[in-house]
Amino acid sequence: MSRLSGFFEAILELWDIVDSSNRTLCVYCGSHKLIEEEHFLPKCRGGATTVPACRKCNRSKSSKTPREWFMYLKYGSRPSDRERWERIVWYHRWGRNNLSQLVRDIRDNY
Ligand SMILES: [Zn+2]
Repeated sequence: MSRLSGFFEAILELWDIVDSSNRTLCVYCGSHKLIEEEHFLPKCRGGATTVPACRKCNRSKSSKTPREWFMYLKYGSRPSDRERWERIVWYHRWGRNNLSQLVRDIRDNY
């Protein structure tokens, strides 16, 4: 995938998530602890809009796009990364929005 199409994909995902978001829950894992404003697209790569994310997800995601981060977690060498991925998969198992679809796509196809 080109960098540009990845960018538009992320914008569409963000649009969908923000529209239906609950600002007190982490959009990635559903935690309500230590919620921070997280740049859905990395600030250093042009992202401006934020979504609520717990501190653990925010720190782990860092400057990755959601797709890059999920791949990193799924194939991570650290148990804590794979545990986070499992938690995210579980939280998004029935979700209808684009972020949930991205999670399940990576779970099933990569
Ligand atoms: Zn989280």
